[in-house]
Amino acid sequence: MKTLKIGWAGLGNMGTPMALNILKAGYELTVYNRNKNKEQELTAAGAGAVNSLQELASHCDIIFTMLSDDTAVKSVYNENDGLLSGTKAGMLLIDMSTVAPETSRYLAAQCKTKQVAFIDAPVSGSVQPAKEGKLIILAGAELQDFEKAKPILDVLGKLALHLGPVGAGSSAKVAINYLLGINIQAMAETVLFAEQNGISKEDMLTIINEGACGNGIIKLKTPAVLADNYPPAFALKYIVKDLKLAKEAGLKSPLSEPLLNTFEAAAADGLGEEDLMAVIKYLKQH
Ligand code: NAP
Repeated sequence: MKTLKIGWAGLGNMGTPMALNILKAGYELTVYNRNKNKEQELTAAGAGAVNSLQELASHCDIIFTMLSDDTAVKSVYNENDGLLSGTKAGMLLIDMSTVAPETSRYLAAQCKTKQVAFIDAPVSGSVQPAKEGKLIILAGAELQDFEKAKPILDVLGKLALHLGPVGAGSSAKVAINYLLGINIQAMAETVLFAEQNGISKEDMLTIINEGACGNGIIKLKTPAVLADNYPPAFALKYIVKDLKLAKEAGLKSPLSEPLLNTFEAAAADGLGEEDLMAVIKYLKQH
């Protein structure tokens, strides 16, 4: 058993496999999730569980958060009954959610008032790389904080990059998810266009994946498109969030506006809880 006591708040699609990897690496792990049912997989695997964020903070040395969005993260960190109500000086909090760079800097400032260090460390990669410990971790931090966290980040990812001060991880994350959105919409539009002209999606996806236009994300989403079934790995509502974050962070390029409009319209059509690849269903009907 490793001596550092690790805490984890947020056991959704990503948080659960990531927290399991911390446990498997031999750390003492305590978890907290708002919906208690989602703690069961972790407690069955040997993690402790607490009933409040304050308790989590008072019990741990380093706490990770993997939560849906900026509002959730601010709420979980709050100093009334959130993490910052229970922290001790010298602790380290690491937020791995995808949020605005501004939110990461705000959280770091809040932590500083409690003499707590903070790292923004969002991830590139979805549920499968999370399970395999092969995420790419995009960190913004003071160097000494990054170095302290690095052995644990290495349990979660195949690569942990220190990109600059707090906020840099979130800046890199909103940029990479812009490319993710473009890839997904381009894949959907290409398959639908080919089908309109009598080329089956099976044939079109073979052409894409066997040639230079095939890439990791297209290969990953190919089985879902072939089955026309989109259970959420990365929920469509989250790419809407991330494209809005990119816009707020200054993205103003020819493709950015129509991309956000498409995913927003797909979410408004009821596809927000499905995987982002479900945008193909929206595009097929419009
Ligand atoms: P998810 O499955 O929807 O899980 C969200 C988590 O946030 C749940 O544990 C949820 O708790 C918690 N939460 C939400 N609002 C809360 C609040 N106000 N107070 C306390 N807890 C709250 O999301 P996910 O797919 O794991 O994604 C998590 C983050 O990683 C998001 O920022 C997402 O953009 C990013 N991300 C996702 C992927 C992916 O492929 N899924 C990849 C890279 C990055 P409850 O269970 O109680 O609702």
